[in-house]
Amino acid sequence: MNEKSAEAKSAEEIISKCINGYKFSLEEAKELLNFDLSTLGLIADQIRNKFCGNTVTFVCDTTINYTNICASKCKFCAFYRSKSAGDAYVLTIDEILQKTEKAENLGATQVLLQGGLNNDIPLSYYETIIKAVRDKFPGVQRHFFSAAEIYFIAENNNMAVEDVMERFRDDGLQSFGGGGAEILVDDVRKKISPYKISAGQWREVITKAHKTGIKTSATMVYGFGESKEDRLRHLLFLRDIQEETDGFTAFIPWSFQPQNTALNVSDLLSQGKFLAGGCDYLEIIALSRIIFNKFLRNIQASWLTEGEKLAQIALFYGANDFSGTIIEENVVQDAGIKFSGKTREEMVNLIKQTGRIPAQRNTFYNVMKIYL
Ligand code: SF4
Repeated sequence: MNEKSAEAKSAEEIISKCINGYKFSLEEAKELLNFDLSTLGLIADQIRNKFCGNTVTFVCDTTINYTNICASKCKFCAFYRSKSAGDAYVLTIDEILQKTEKAENLGATQVLLQGGLNNDIPLSYYETIIKAVRDKFPGVQRHFFSAAEIYFIAENNNMAVEDVMERFRDDGLQSFGGGGAEILVDDVRKKISPYKISAGQWREVITKAHKTGIKTSATMVYGFGESKEDRLRHLLFLRDIQEETDGFTAFIPWSFQPQNTALNVSDLLSQGKFLAGGCDYLEIIALSRIIFNKFLRNIQASWLTEGEKLAQIALFYGANDFSGTIIEENVVQDAGIKFSGKTREEMVNLIKQTGRIPAQRNTFYNVMKIYL
């Protein structure tokens, strides 16, 4: 058997294993890196087709960032401010409700509410927002906070994480974003966000949320100079949580956006490392589809951070979701990305260009409308 046909046979074996559900070890996952990117993409695309068919979902949503004051000061973040900064802010409850109303009028069914770790904000602020949005906008799904915020809120109020979660759930919290994960390997975290929760603490919040009945997404930010093995460890870490709780709705990776951050990019370059490019993104999408196989169905392509053209290509490397219309957003804008939200029609057109069938979904990835 020549080299090409041996590779094809091995690709077929991987596809068949994944379709039946296969738990890759780290060593086996590392072997996947021996495939070239296009072969990895072909493997992932067939697995995507088996689990998700031809439909590509998207959500009509907005992101509201309620404060930019943050104690964590992550080196990769361009969004945070100190309390004394001239442009530091905390939105009032009324401002959040106005933004929610505006988004709902534009068709949003989901609000992602996220902010910095601000120790001046009382617990009542968070609870009032959850209840007010629940009561005034019952058609808008409340996708509020992140693991890092929940852990911080618990600490700041001398409460157990599960108590905060139960209170928020009873107030009407339905799910939260998987932000704060970055790379779930502590050696990497210490370099880029030394004051943020550890990988183990992130896991603690997420598993407790899932056990409380609150779903979350699973995220990954890459491109800090971490190794490919670190990336694989991250994927396996998420896969193991999902096997335990089945509480992730989707996996959402995006690349580190270096502008206006404290991370010393020239340091990275002097070590012979590069900022992540399009090939890194497609490789991560493909690896995630292969490693998550039956464990986690939805893999999101992010037009906001990677650009709509690369996001379209990601749909051929294992992704089955095209993110959201994102009426408003502040965090990546502060990292220098020019941004304007998309209409539903633009989302439908971008997906149709790939030959797939667009479908609007809700926060839990249930299809609401198919656009044939
Ligand atoms: S990434 Fe989040 S936790 Fe870190 S500094 Fe920025 S706002 Fe704060």
